[in-house]
Amino acid sequence: MTSDFEAQLRSVSLRVTRPRLAVLAALRDHPHVDTDTVIALVRADLPTISHQAVYDVLRALTDAGLVRRIQPARATARYEARVGDNHHHVVCRSCGAIADVDCAVGSAPCLTASDAHGFTVDEAEVVYWGTCPDCATARTSQRSTSSEGSR
Ligand SMILES: [Zn+2]
Ligand SMILES: [Zn+2]
Ligand SMILES: [Zn+2]
Repeated sequence: MTSDFEAQLRSVSLRVTRPRLAVLAALRDHPHVDTDTVIALVRADLPTISHQAVYDVLRALTDAGLVRRIQPARATARYEARVGDNHHHVVCRSCGAIADVDCAVGSAPCLTASDAHGFTVDEAEVVYWGTCPDCATARTSQRSTSSEGSR
């Protein structure tokens, strides 16, 4: 696996460093995590790495296209190493859980604007909002508990 990451870094002319490898490994195992979580995961490997060093690595990897930064409305930025397939996300309004949704078309922009006002459109940002199964279950059991209580 490590050698895959080395090849990825070389393919975008980035030097192979332990922090970069650690960040890529963390994002492979934990997609859609925020910066603090990335720092905690990387520190399991490299205990002395600074916040700033992780920020710098995330920025370099994002700029190089190896990492994708997503930021649903009202949420903190999350990072993932699944790039290049124009996939979308479903976000829970209640707990912020995020899951991947394959794009039916697969290439951007997968939606055609009804009127692009002369703009050259190269991306359509699609976010599905809803309630995750855990929150839906919690809500249902809460409801049944409270209706029992009012009886
Ligand atoms: Zn939820
Ligand atoms: Zn994703
Ligand atoms: Zn799509």
